[in-house]
Amino acid sequence: MKLKKRQIALLIFLIIGTIYVAMTNDTKAPSAKTWKFSERIFGTVMNATYTHTEDLHDTIMTCLRGVDASLSMFNPKSTISRINRGETDTLDTYLAEILPMAHSVSEATDGAFDITVAPLVNAWGFGFKNGQLPTDAQVDSLRALVGYKGIAFGNGLIHKENPGTVIDLSAIAKGFGTDQVANLLMEHGVKDFMVEIGGEIVSRGNNPKGKAWHIGINRPVEDSTGTNNEIQEVIEVHNRAMATSGNYRNYYTTEDGRKVSHTIDPSTGRPVQHSLLSSTVLAPTCAMADAFATSFMVMGMEKAKEVVRSHPELQVYFIYTDSTGTYQTWQNIKSEEEP
Ligand code: ADP
Ligand code: MG
Repeated sequence: MKLKKRQIALLIFLIIGTIYVAMTNDTKAPSAKTWKFSERIFGTVMNATYTHTEDLHDTIMTCLRGVDASLSMFNPKSTISRINRGETDTLDTYLAEILPMAHSVSEATDGAFDITVAPLVNAWGFGFKNGQLPTDAQVDSLRALVGYKGIAFGNGLIHKENPGTVIDLSAIAKGFGTDQVANLLMEHGVKDFMVEIGGEIVSRGNNPKGKAWHIGINRPVEDSTGTNNEIQEVIEVHNRAMATSGNYRNYYTTEDGRKVSHTIDPSTGRPVQHSLLSSTVLAPTCAMADAFATSFMVMGMEKAKEVVRSHPELQVYFIYTDSTGTYQTWQNIKSEEEP
């Protein structure tokens, strides 16, 4: 079969075109490198390490500022601050996503997790002001404002039974923000990364050395300055969302030597103090890990173990003191499949 002149010309054009495309792709394709940065956000520090062709710093920070503009009660312009002041009852997309999560953790923990606990947190000197310890009568009157069952939401709206109820997402927002960054990185096709906001972590794939990420769990050394970083245990992880809650850092000591932690038991209206010193939780999302980690500090070891047994999606690493004051650990962390 003879090829006509026109067909030959077309063939040559296609061959040259293909070679040209292959060459330009080869020279222009940027190679992936490891990017790493730290930034202040949500009143704490975030760290991100990821392997990608492009620098995603600005995209990540825009995403986190969006989360802050929705969920931060320390940002007076945020949606939650406006809801708390009764200026709006309209939810934005982040709130519409996080409120059902918070509600499910409240239900799973018999109310130990409660995003309406803020007036009590403030009364005990955390949050906005430090002052006198509250009296029993003050605690009791504030408890009237507290209770997650007093808020209802759906169809993009929120309703507070008591207009004075304040919503505080501090115990779940850091984990939620970490999830948002992780999702953003995955949408950009990033396969190897670790994101951490104030100790709440999501990791995927491998570290820059091609090995599993190593995450250290701090030894719960009492240290209200937050400078001690002794490591109790290192876990190797590829694909995990993990959060830690501990009362060994965020606490203060009263003049008569009592320790006041920033975790409030909604059933008593008072700060918790258990033998459980640190609770690390692995969960399908970092928001859930964050919320359960705080809940377990409220519940104490025995009740927390019951919740863990009935929630196979949760894995935990607890550090507690035994009757002699010695550190002990209880854990059910399973090793994971390589990606
Ligand atoms: P931690 O890392 O110790 O868990 P978080 O910032 O995650 O710290 O959570 C502690 C914050 O959660 C407190 O400062 C307070 O605002 C809020 N909080 C305290 N007690 C509860 C509770 N029982 N349920 C939900 N949030 C709480
Ligand atoms: Mg928490």
